[in-house]
Order: sequence, then structure tokens, then C-alpha cells
Amino acid sequence: MIDNRSKYFVFVPFCLLAQAYQAQGIVKYEWKSSIKPFVNLLIDNDINIIQMPCTESTFKNRLIREPMGITKYDTKDFNIHCEKIANEVYEQIKQLIESDYKVIAILGIEQSPSCCVNYIYTNHGNENRKGLFMGKLYDKIKEYNIPIIGVNRKYINKSLKQLEKVIDEIN
Ligand code: SF4
Repeated sequence: MIDNRSKYFVFVPFCLLAQAYQAQGIVKYEWKSSIKPFVNLLIDNDINIIQMPCTESTFKNRLIREPMGITKYDTKDFNIHCEKIANEVYEQIKQLIESDYKVIAILGIEQSPSCCVNYIYTNHGNENRKGLFMGKLYDKIKEYNIPIIGVNRKYINKSLKQLEKVIDEIN
């Protein structure tokens, strides 16, 4: 049986493909819908793209919402919501790896209370930390050593280069 599928996967935040899911006033830069350079790079290299659920818009059905800081999001209910979604994403990653597919990277969005990877601006200045969802996912998948790349929507070059490097390694 001929089967020509790509075995490579990258997991992306929901809003990397659908920026309309971001909080109001956040979509300020060049791309209005998806953050195209990442999507184009993945498509050009035949990487399967998995869109992770958006924890903030699915919490209490808040698609249209004002931006809120991480301290406001850091509640028991929101953490339970993030834990549930992190578990679902973990199960999907585990299933792929056990099926001999390769998850080559996970992308996050810097400055997001849920999905940041390295830093977020808070009332106390810049904090180096992961978001409430990304931190939980990271704890579950540590053993797989999958690169997690934080996208700064304003300055995408650094993270784009990181992703290019990961893709170069499989080509
Ligand atoms: S929670 Fe994550 S996926 Fe949803 S808008 Fe924020 S950064 Fe994007």
C-alpha cells in the first residue's frame, strides 16, 4: 500500500492560525488572521499542524474579551480548565509518539497568560516563566524533550529561526 504521509508534527496555539481568538486590541502587527511566516514554513516543509485549544476563549465561553493579566487568570477554576486541556494535548502527543510519529516542536505565544513560554509582563515587571496552560503542558511532556518555542508576535524573527533550525534537522 502506497502511503506518502508526513510523519512530522508541530503543535501551535489556536490563535497562531486564527488571531481573531485573541483578546480585543491584541492583533496589532502585520498579519490579520494567521501569523503567516510560521504557517507558510510548516506547510512548505510538509509538517502536520495541530492547533491546540485556546484556553482563554473556551473558559466561560469568552471569545470576545478584554485582555487580562496573569494574576487575574491565575484562579482555581481557570487552572482546572488549563489542566484539562493540557491533559488532552498531552494524550494526543503521547499517542503520536507511540505511533512512531515525530512531534518536532510546540509553539507558544510570549506575553500570553496561558501560552507564554519564556516571559510575560506583569505588575511586577517582566517575569521569566511559562503561562498557566504552557507550564502544565510542559510538566507532562518533559520526558519527550520536545523543543518549545515562544513566538513574540512583534518580533517574530528569533522564534522563526528557531523553528527553521528544528526543521533543518529533520530534512
Ligand atoms: S490563550 Fe493561547 S491560544 Fe488562546 S488567544 Fe491566548 S495565546 Fe492564543
